[in-house]
Amino acid sequence: VHELSQLPSEHGAEVAFAGRSNTGKSSAINAITGHKGLARTSKTPGRTQLINFFALDSKNRLVDLPGYGYAKVPLALKQHWEETLAQYLQSRECLRGLILMMDIRHPLTPIDWQMLAWCHDARLRSHILLTKADKLSKSAASLALLKARAALAEAYELTPATIADKHGTGLISIQLFSAPLRQGVDDARLILRNWLK
Ligand code: GDP
Repeated sequence: VHELSQLPSEHGAEVAFAGRSNTGKSSAINAITGHKGLARTSKTPGRTQLINFFALDSKNRLVDLPGYGYAKVPLALKQHWEETLAQYLQSRECLRGLILMMDIRHPLTPIDWQMLAWCHDARLRSHILLTKADKLSKSAASLALLKARAALAEAYELTPATIADKHGTGLISIQLFSAPLRQGVDDARLILRNWLK
């Protein structure tokens, strides 16, 4: 859909995927669903300004939100999409949670915090995938995870242990992810399953 007025009916439940352009959102959707070409990878960043809905069955959907934060998008379009995203996240009744992709090498940018704030305000669950974990050594990736978890815990006055919960029962959780290594795919699937239950 191009506009919120075109959203499908609220029947059933959905989980949305969002992230800055080029953080690996399409690759993550493809790895998690096990469908190679479902969301297109390596497209021109910021080009596809559409919300794509993928039916999992007759009741449940995955939602591929447009990548944000791409510098070359004209300001008016950028503002339009930020408003659309905020409105979708805050008003969509059947939305169970948001999977937020962030490149492990530069997570929690200002616009990521903005996305988290919209979710938090709407009491909507968010689960962060720190993507491209294979770009760092194992120890550097673990350290990046700990740092991000600590920053989230501080911002939302939660204990880091709450954010480490693997079942998606908390308001915010976070994990490592690598599409080529398939690292974190099962953990992400567990969250989706629990949210869509
Ligand atoms: P999107 O714009 O967020 O949908 O990002 P894409 O999924 O299209 O990925 C952008 C680029 O990053 C592509 O070249 C992907 O092959 C690459 N990429 C995506 N995920 C990973 C990952 O986990 N590890 C590595 N090394 N590269 C990745």
